[in-house]
Amino acid sequence: MIIRQEIYDALKNLKVPSDKTFGKALLPIIIRSNYENGEWSELEVLFDSENQISGGSVAVQYAQSIFEGMKAYKVGQDIPQIFRPMDHAKRFIDSAKRMCIPPVPEPLFIKAVNLLSNLYEDHIPKQSGCALYLRPSIYGTDYSLSITPSEKYCFSVHAAPTLPFANEMISVLIERQNKRSALGGTGNVKTAGNYAAGFNALRRAQKLGCATNLWLDPVENRFIEEFSLMNFFTFYDGVLHTPKLQPSFLPGVVRRSIITLAKDMGVEVVEEQIDINKLIETIQTGQPIEAFSTGTAAAVTPIKSFKELDGKEYIISEQMGAISTILKTKLNDILDAKAKDKFNWMQKVY
Ligand SMILES: *Cc1c(COP(=O)(O)O)cnc(C)c1O
Repeated sequence: MIIRQEIYDALKNLKVPSDKTFGKALLPIIIRSNYENGEWSELEVLFDSENQISGGSVAVQYAQSIFEGMKAYKVGQDIPQIFRPMDHAKRFIDSAKRMCIPPVPEPLFIKAVNLLSNLYEDHIPKQSGCALYLRPSIYGTDYSLSITPSEKYCFSVHAAPTLPFANEMISVLIERQNKRSALGGTGNVKTAGNYAAGFNALRRAQKLGCATNLWLDPVENRFIEEFSLMNFFTFYDGVLHTPKLQPSFLPGVVRRSIITLAKDMGVEVVEEQIDINKLIETIQTGQPIEAFSTGTAAAVTPIKSFKELDGKEYIISEQMGAISTILKTKLNDILDAKAKDKFNWMQKVY
């Protein structure tokens, strides 16, 4: 592959944007492959500003667009390592199939995220909790208003360095009004349209001092599904509970990792339907209970309380619980290369 001298020059002089709020510090150089006549092209390295996509494209008009989110870490090591890239490659294929997008073969996906991590190697933060966030996406680029799948697509990978998340506990709004997905819908894949539909709910949550919404099932409006970008766990009666996977919500890679870590340390894990109203009763008995969310962006985030739209608050715990703390530490130690990576989750960038 030929990489232009001006790309190297730009990398050398790169000023990382100072706003490191999650996702705001998008870097200017990207990886791209175009799909045309049934084939993905060779990867190319280019400036984002050179990657034109029209307002009249199928992606913009009809949201034929999917993405992934993963991280490359360089804490305590010289060669960056990506957390579970194959798991993300596989989910990217599932998302593509659901949205009638030609899947990017796993080797091309892995090559693209490695290449970008390599180019940005010197800009991957080395402080604990920091990483280079990688955002692969595919979008239909046909200039067409016809309501049919695009014939041409762009696969690109963007990157943004992240700072550690504040170690604060969060409150979340029990979302009883809107639904983020439907039975038979697209809730279990990472497709663009799933997210904008939750923005109104996010605004309502933020007004109440909540970080995100706790989405309930689309049929009975009482079983916990997940948060807008994270999965849900709660620990009580000596058991770690998490919603059993449904076609209406996203199977998180961090969710799966936390289940593995918990079982590995002898904690019983139950994947089941969790009724929000029963969980509130459990909280109100005053027995010890913990809750936390999981996701690539913030790993493990402890939850302080659930809130209702009328302002009513159910305090789960004012302090991060013992099990949440252990699991968070165990995961972070693997990401920071402090603990043995016994499940082979970290893949060295080549
Ligand atoms: C990405 C995402 C998650 C978390 O998935 P991870 O693979 O753990 O990062 C959870 N819910 C939704 C809706 C998501 O988009």
